[in-house]
Amino acid sequence: MVPVQALELPEQIELDQLCALAGAALERSPLGEVHHAGRSFKLESFALGNPHSDLPAVAFVGGVHGLERIGAEVVIAYLRSLVMRLRWDDTLHRQLERVRLVFMPLVNPGGIWRGTRANPQGVDLMRNAPVDAGQRAPYLIGGQRLSAKLPWYRGVEGAPMQAESAALCALIERELLGRPFSMAVDCHSGFGLIDRIWFPFAHTAKPIAHLAELHRLSEMLDQSLPNHTYVMEPQSRQYLAHGDIWDHLYLQSQAHPSAVFLPLTLEMGSWVWVKKNPRQLFKRGGIFNPLIEHRQQRVLRRHMSWLDFISRAASSHARWLPQGTARERQQELALAHWYRKAAA
Ligand SMILES: [Zn+2]
Repeated sequence: MVPVQALELPEQIELDQLCALAGAALERSPLGEVHHAGRSFKLESFALGNPHSDLPAVAFVGGVHGLERIGAEVVIAYLRSLVMRLRWDDTLHRQLERVRLVFMPLVNPGGIWRGTRANPQGVDLMRNAPVDAGQRAPYLIGGQRLSAKLPWYRGVEGAPMQAESAALCALIERELLGRPFSMAVDCHSGFGLIDRIWFPFAHTAKPIAHLAELHRLSEMLDQSLPNHTYVMEPQSRQYLAHGDIWDHLYLQSQAHPSAVFLPLTLEMGSWVWVKKNPRQLFKRGGIFNPLIEHRQQRVLRRHMSWLDFISRAASSHARWLPQGTARERQQELALAHWYRKAAA
C-alpha cells in the first residue's frame, strides 16, 4: 500500500508562515482531513480575538469551490494584514478584546489541488446541504443528482454531507451560532461582471427573518465606503439553488431565537478579468481568477476595506442593530428595495 502523503498547497504554506508570525495570538484548530489519490489534505480553522460566547464573531471562509482560488487568497490576505497589524495596531488589539474572528480559507483543498469546482468526490459543496429549492431551481446549475461527472452535483440523496461541508458546518455551529450576534463572509468568484454580496435565501424567493438588519448594514456600507462597487442583494434575485450551505446554517441559527446570524457571500465578478484579457478564457481556472499579477494584487487589495468593515460592524453591532420602530422602517425599506421591485 502506498503511504498517504501529506501535501502542501501554496496557500497552506502561507498559512503555516502566518501561524509562525502570529505565535499564540492565532489559534489553529484541526477540523479533519480529506484524502485524494494517495494524498491527504488538512481541513483547519484559525481564530483571533476573544472566544467568550457572549461576544460577536465573524467567520471568513474561502476555497469552497476549488477553481475559485482568488476567494481563498482574499481571505488569507485579510488574515495576513491582521497578523501584521497585531505587531503595532493598538486599535486592533482593543477590537479583538470584543470580537472573535474565525477563518477557514481552504474549505475544499482537494478541489483546489485538482483545479475543480467540486470536491474530489465530484460534489459541489454549495449544493450539498440538506435544503431543497423545490421545482423552481434552474436545471443543472441549481443543483442536480444525475451524476458526479456533471457540475453542480448535490451528492447522494439522504447521505451525510461531505467531510468538507460537515467541517464548515461544525465550525460555524461551534464558533458562531450560539452567540447573540455573528456574521459570515464566504468568498467566491465567477458570476457576472460586478462584485455582488449575496445573503440568503438561495432556495426560496421569500425574505429571511433578518432583512431589516441586512438593510441597515447595506446603508452603513454605502455611507462608510461611499465609492464602493458592491451590489448587495438576496441570492434568490439571481437564481434559486438546492443545497446552499448558508441557507442551511441560517435555518440552523433559528434554533436560537434571540440570536442574529447574517451570512454573506462575496461573488467577485470575474468576467471583467476575462474581458480585459480574453486569452485567459483558455487557461485552466482563467474564468475564475485574475491571472495577471497586478490584477490579482488589485483584487486582493480592493476587498480588504470591505472585510474590515464587516469586522468592525460585528464588533460594534450593539450601536447599529435596528430596534422597535427603526427596525420596522428598515424592514419596509428592505422589502421595497429587494423584493417588491423584483416582483414588479
Ligand atoms: Zn463559488
